[in-house]
Amino acid sequence: MSRVRILVVEDDEGVGEALVETFTVAGWESELCRRGDDGLRHVRDADLVLLDLGLPDIDGLDFLRVLRRASTVPVLVLTARDGDGAVVLGLRAGADDYLVKPVRQAVLLARVQALIRRSRVGRKGHDSGAADEPLVFGALRLDLAAREVTRGGERVALTATELDVLAAVASRPGEAVSREEIQLQVWGTPAVGRSRSLDFFVASLRSKLGEELPLRTVRGFGFRLGG
Ligand code: CA
Repeated sequence: MSRVRILVVEDDEGVGEALVETFTVAGWESELCRRGDDGLRHVRDADLVLLDLGLPDIDGLDFLRVLRRASTVPVLVLTARDGDGAVVLGLRAGADDYLVKPVRQAVLLARVQALIRRSRVGRKGHDSGAADEPLVFGALRLDLAAREVTRGGERVALTATELDVLAAVASRPGEAVSREEIQLQVWGTPAVGRSRSLDFFVASLRSKLGEELPLRTVRGFGFRLGG
């Protein structure tokens, strides 16, 4: 497999370091986070998340729910006990697979490989490349691949973050994109604390680009561009 990056969210130092060691030997990059909030901040470039359900700052299931509103990254849950319902709840909250501790190395590597392969195949099939085409709304032309927005041929000056927010919403034109997904793309974390920043940048985009920009608020969820 080409470059693989695994995010390990595990508060037990011994277990976490053993996992990182296993992945390093397998030739994969990995990063260890001991807290959930730290994990959410480092999830952006991960190919897979290995998640311990018992974290010090946030319940693993809540971590999963927040993550799933923002990202489809494969998640493999690690749980200390079998048969306590945690596994079922984990899968319901958005995990792709689970392992009960203690984990055998060969089993862990096989499961991780299977999940990453599956998600890469899925992503290729889904990616139409449509986001690279400029979007045109009346006199507005959004060329986000070139990071350029023009109105009637005149360039509109947008800040880097305004362009990032616009690109995130425009990644699936006509479809609602969740606040968490936008926040993850722009700031690298889906955390709720970014919510007010997002509202600020949406307001400034609307004021700079005017009513021709069909940027709609989808109440209680996020935003939609066009459609
Ligand atoms: Ca734990």
